[in-house]
Amino acid sequence: MKKIYVATFGCQQNEADSETILGIAGTLGFVPVSTPEEADLILYNTCAVREHAELKALSTTGQLKHLKEKNRALKIGLCGCMIQQEHRKEDIKNKYPYVDFVFGTNMIPRLPEILEKVYGEKKRHFFVEDFDVNPGAIVEDLPVRHRYPYKAYVSIMYGCNNFCTYCVVPYVRGRERSREKDAVVRDVEKLVREGAREITLLGQNVNSYGKDLAVPVSFASLLGELAAIPGDFVLRFMTSHPKDATSELIDTIAASPKCERHFHLPLQSGSDAVLKRMNRHYDREKYLSLTRELKEKVPGICLTTDVIVGFPGETDADFEDTLSLLKEVRFDGVFSFIYSPRKGTPAEKYPDRVPEEVSRARMARLLDTQLAIQTENNEAFVGRTLVALCEGTSKNDPAFFSARSSEGKLIHFPKGGGAREGEFVRVKITAAKAIMLIGEEVK
Ligand code: SAH
Ligand code: SF4
Repeated sequence: MKKIYVATFGCQQNEADSETILGIAGTLGFVPVSTPEEADLILYNTCAVREHAELKALSTTGQLKHLKEKNRALKIGLCGCMIQQEHRKEDIKNKYPYVDFVFGTNMIPRLPEILEKVYGEKKRHFFVEDFDVNPGAIVEDLPVRHRYPYKAYVSIMYGCNNFCTYCVVPYVRGRERSREKDAVVRDVEKLVREGAREITLLGQNVNSYGKDLAVPVSFASLLGELAAIPGDFVLRFMTSHPKDATSELIDTIAASPKCERHFHLPLQSGSDAVLKRMNRHYDREKYLSLTRELKEKVPGICLTTDVIVGFPGETDADFEDTLSLLKEVRFDGVFSFIYSPRKGTPAEKYPDRVPEEVSRARMARLLDTQLAIQTENNEAFVGRTLVALCEGTSKNDPAFFSARSSEGKLIHFPKGGGAREGEFVRVKITAAKAIMLIGEEVK
């Protein structure tokens, strides 16, 4: 029995991929361990979306050198978005001689064959495919080792066709490929039978799901069909692109109690000029009208978003447009990032880079504005009772549980009321902070 350690950097897609990697490795006789020191095989599933993520993956890889020196039989591999880039693959080849192998984002189904070569041949392996030659077929029914019995990720599509000018994802994940609707439905039915309470559908742009299928289907119709599966479970999905979010989708959410009352809708910028240079294919007004429709048709829905600060050419006035939009929509959470130039993307070559200190100052203002809004939004929950999925002991206090409400709110409440990890619980909210609610269990 060999021991495998997998560390995941980046987004939920990578988390889901790592669960498949562990599933396949399990069928090959590998058992997962929780530290690299115990492992015979170490795999890092890397991210490339910002420079910071790459530097983290590289420095963590650097720390493995001494393990390899102690144990020559140890195998070290890298996969995921970072090494799918030619220049990073070369970096690994030349500067990280203790890395035994790398494999690209569409090669996970071929893991058995990859590991056979890694263990069978005394040389290093660099398995990365060119998407133009090999776009990556979808392989169904791969084994998956779900990290939690009660929460599951289900990828419904792979890749991205949008080419937002700042983003590396289309280059490292290839073109959009949707899974057949029946395959997704079968997966979700099986997970529900096995006791999953929360299922999160994944794709870079779930709203364009199904457009590439032989018989095209909309994401809304997939969601509607999944929501009709009987059982005690809820559905989440990410990520939505505003240009493809439809009224049909919003109506489906409104009609189904199984769809959670939370919508993550990346904005990126509140300025029309910046949105155009980002190649986002919507403007401020289209974005605002979508949020109005969501709030009208799905009462109580909470909205979260992503914002990039300091995109090339972003002026003070552009940034003010972003702030004013945040104030108008009153999001329940904003993931904000300072623009990070990505090699090979159009924006990397755009003029008028925003100086780091200007971006930092804008970011600080954005956070101030948003935290004040979030605190007010959260205070409005005090006195209300929310249904939430109990996710186990709180990281802050072992006497408390953490739970996630339908609206996506993180709630802490004292143990002892009978709640159990992995089950739905009703919590009466007694206090609010900017990033979480505090409550007590009620029957
Ligand atoms: N497909 C999803 C997720 C993309 S990556 C989507 O379209 O929303 C997640 C977030 O990272 C993006 O929404 C964006 O806000 C941010 N991001 C992507 N590329 C970036 C870059 N080069 N610099 C800074 N932030 C970036
Ligand atoms: Fe990147 Fe845009 Fe595709 Fe999202 S939609 S993955 S931001 S290119």
